Amino acid sequence: MSKIQEKKPATMYENVMQQYNQVADSMGLNKNIKKILGITNNEIIVNFPVRMDNDEVKIFTGYRVQHNNALGPYKGGLRYHPTIDVDDARALAMWMTWKTSLAGLPFGGAKGGIKLDPRDYSIRELERITRRFTYALGDNIGPDQDIPAPDVNTNAQTMAWILDTYMSTKAPSARSQNSHIVTGKPVGSGGLEGRDRATGFGVFLTIKLFLASQGKDLKNKTFIVQGFGNVGQWASKFMVEEGAKLIAVQDAHATLYHKEGIDPVALAEHTKPRKGSIEGFEGTEEIKPEEFFGLACDILIPAALGNQINGSNAANIKAKIVAEGANGPVTGEGEKILLEREIAIIPDILCNSGGVIGSYFEWLQNRHGEIWQLDEVMQKIEKKLTENFKKVEEAVKENKVDWRTAAYIIAISRIELAYTQRGIFP
Ligand code: GLU
Repeated sequence: MSKIQEKKPATMYENVMQQYNQVADSMGLNKNIKKILGITNNEIIVNFPVRMDNDEVKIFTGYRVQHNNALGPYKGGLRYHPTIDVDDARALAMWMTWKTSLAGLPFGGAKGGIKLDPRDYSIRELERITRRFTYALGDNIGPDQDIPAPDVNTNAQTMAWILDTYMSTKAPSARSQNSHIVTGKPVGSGGLEGRDRATGFGVFLTIKLFLASQGKDLKNKTFIVQGFGNVGQWASKFMVEEGAKLIAVQDAHATLYHKEGIDPVALAEHTKPRKGSIEGFEGTEEIKPEEFFGLACDILIPAALGNQINGSNAANIKAKIVAEGANGPVTGEGEKILLEREIAIIPDILCNSGGVIGSYFEWLQNRHGEIWQLDEVMQKIEKKLTENFKKVEEAVKENKVDWRTAAYIIAISRIELAYTQRGIFP
């Protein structure tokens, strides 16, 4: 078992529910709407067989939890991880509902995945597993129903297989109109230029805006990153380009430290032939995993799994800002300690929302049959995220609350308004 996995407690759902109940009560959310949003709409669990390269048939378990679709089709990623279960998918789906609502998008929230470690399978096995999972989900997903995207251990290739399977199992006349069944596709298959870097860019941008709100900038600021997948890599690249220094990186295999700064582009290259692992990167010192959170730095970016910052390590954190690249990286207990110590948290539903904002533009591009250029896309993401950031900043001041509470108030209020206007069928 990896170091990051070992720390993962089974309380991500408790964490999101605690956040939700606390804000719902403090903002006086209508009690009927509180009931609706406190539970998921649909929970799909599929067990499906796949033939392995050695001819053996294995059964896999896949999940798709659809939390709420009051504002539009369900939206959210699929993760491939040995620890995912329906409880995790529930929590992550709920976070997606808040995230899309806060971002002002016409989407609801969902999340899912398959219980497996992709490192245990060949590329062809992963393709067959993905295709069979897509088939098993059937019409539970669709371009106007529920739109998956990449998440932990899935990528543009995974989305291309889902797209192809979905199109191949539809009537020929419907095929060409369905490319927005998934977002985060390869650019050659209807994907959006810039979607690959959208989440990491958003993490960087929210940190930059946060510092700017205090009259500061990123020049010579030191930062550490947990998780060096898509989010960690791109966020680090943008941070370093703006003058910040990456002094430590941790993944499931190693914790690397270099006080003069680590080159994130070279490190990303290093991981490629190593199934994503940062282990053995030259010019860095390998330190004990438990030393990571206590390193002296200005900014900490957790960009791996949930529940990493908790009651047992929050008191050691030296960073002044925790920017949540991952979903749910701080537990309720961890949050209490951080806030008491006046460490600011840029909450996940704002901090990592660049990804789903990029997904929205991809979905629009496909629906309109258009192809957008990279600079145009990045400008659109920056504009939308900056507006959202300002709204949360105002809500922090107006309500005199922390950033997560402010973000939740905005997100929940928007859904509350939709229910209030429409009423409850029948
Ligand atoms: N998996 C990403 C997230 O957690 C992106 C979801 C999407 O683009 O639909 O926000």
